[in-house]
Amino acid sequence: MPLRFYNTLSQQVEDFAPARDNTVRMYTCGPTVYSFAHIGNFRTFTFVDILRKCLRANGFKLDHVMNITDVDDKIIRNAAAEHKDLKEYTAIYTQAFLEDCAALRLERPEHLVPATEHIDEMAAAIARLTASNHTYQSDGSVYFRIATFPGYGKLSHNDFSGNIAGARVDVDEYEKADARDFALWKAPKEGEKYWDTAIGPGRPGWHIECSVMAIEYLGETLDIHAGGIDLVFPHHENEIAQSESLTGKPFSRFWMHAEFLMVEGQKMSKSLGNYFTLRDILGRGYAPEAVRYLLASVPYRKALNFTFDGLQSAKTAIERLRNFKLRLETGAFADGLDQSLADRTAAAQAQFSDAMDDDLNTAEALAAIFEYVRDVNTAMDAGEMRSANRGPALACLARFDKVFDVLQPTAESGEMADSEVESMIAARHDAKQARNFALADQVRAQLLEQGIILEDTKSGTRWKRKSS
Ligand code: AMP
Ligand code: ZN
Repeated sequence: MPLRFYNTLSQQVEDFAPARDNTVRMYTCGPTVYSFAHIGNFRTFTFVDILRKCLRANGFKLDHVMNITDVDDKIIRNAAAEHKDLKEYTAIYTQAFLEDCAALRLERPEHLVPATEHIDEMAAAIARLTASNHTYQSDGSVYFRIATFPGYGKLSHNDFSGNIAGARVDVDEYEKADARDFALWKAPKEGEKYWDTAIGPGRPGWHIECSVMAIEYLGETLDIHAGGIDLVFPHHENEIAQSESLTGKPFSRFWMHAEFLMVEGQKMSKSLGNYFTLRDILGRGYAPEAVRYLLASVPYRKALNFTFDGLQSAKTAIERLRNFKLRLETGAFADGLDQSLADRTAAAQAQFSDAMDDDLNTAEALAAIFEYVRDVNTAMDAGEMRSANRGPALACLARFDKVFDVLQPTAESGEMADSEVESMIAARHDAKQARNFALADQVRAQLLEQGIILEDTKSGTRWKRKSS
């Protein structure tokens, strides 16, 4: 089945392939580094990571740009409140963001670019928009005149005809019904950081940042542009207006948007105060891979309600998969191949890939894996598993983990690594051989303290992690 994605622009699910040379040119809007990102933000960034891994699993190469918004109203306000220089302030939260991404196993985009490194290019783009009559000035600020772009509204599917009144707005985020001329360049304000450029002193608006960096690194037409659903309007609508006015070409072929992480029916957000940072969650003793699993488990176009019960279930699901993997690795199976199990494995792998290729249907992909785990566990209980079935079963699990990336425990989570458990079991075995049963019991008790349960069988000692 072909890879296909829902495209916000066409409002259709469409077959996807990159336009040129097997490389997907992708731009995703990055964080505004004014404080720690919350796990709502990370729902969107986890979706992007799953998207990357799915594209790679389909044999495509990636050229992916993500911006770091390191100048905006909130940053300027917060930095001033802490008496910090803008750069010093944003460095702290950029670093924190990168650490959180690493903990959640989010791959680094090929280009991770702070906006403030491209101020001159932004000024040059604004000059070009001015030369082609798309802008006007007021009090040293430059605004994009949306009446000059007939396609305005095509991404958010808002019909703005009759509503494009020439009113303007200085803030970067505003209400969906408002078609407003937006700031491309903001005049310096007393005590605020500004840059001296060819179009005068000031700082860029948020929207121009993404248009300029996307075109600079990836060319005039992207394959995919993605972000959270709240970016459709005005941010992405404004990016299209600027970019297409600059180039005369479609800005992006596909637009993909992740729905919100919710808390009791409301969007998780800083302003509502109903948020958890990743650090909050890890501080409560959850492993980052449980957060990753939870955020990835609901398909990105469905809102996901955050609860600690949900996080607990994610943890249990991961334990189940790890125990299954261990059982496959350590079980003693009779020689040969069981054909029906081999067929079952191939079917599970195909179901998993088909579900992921179907607009990243992670829920169905997980269901395919868990049904498979249940069936193979049953087969192992019944002694039907054969040694030649082991490799393909592990490969199926590896295929799953290439995308979900949750099977390897995070070292800092305090959990014992598989290899440590194995070597303690070997030590216990040696103790028993030497008839030192006290020592053997001691090792068993130590493992139990670490949440590891041993089961002695005819074919050796099996172990699993206790799910709590
Ligand atoms: P920001 O740092 O505010 O620019 O946001 C970074 C990303 O997080 C953007 O793509 C937002 O759309 C996304 N985002 C913000 N809140 C949520 C949420 N509750 N659920 C999912 N994504 C979100
Ligand atoms: Zn953007």
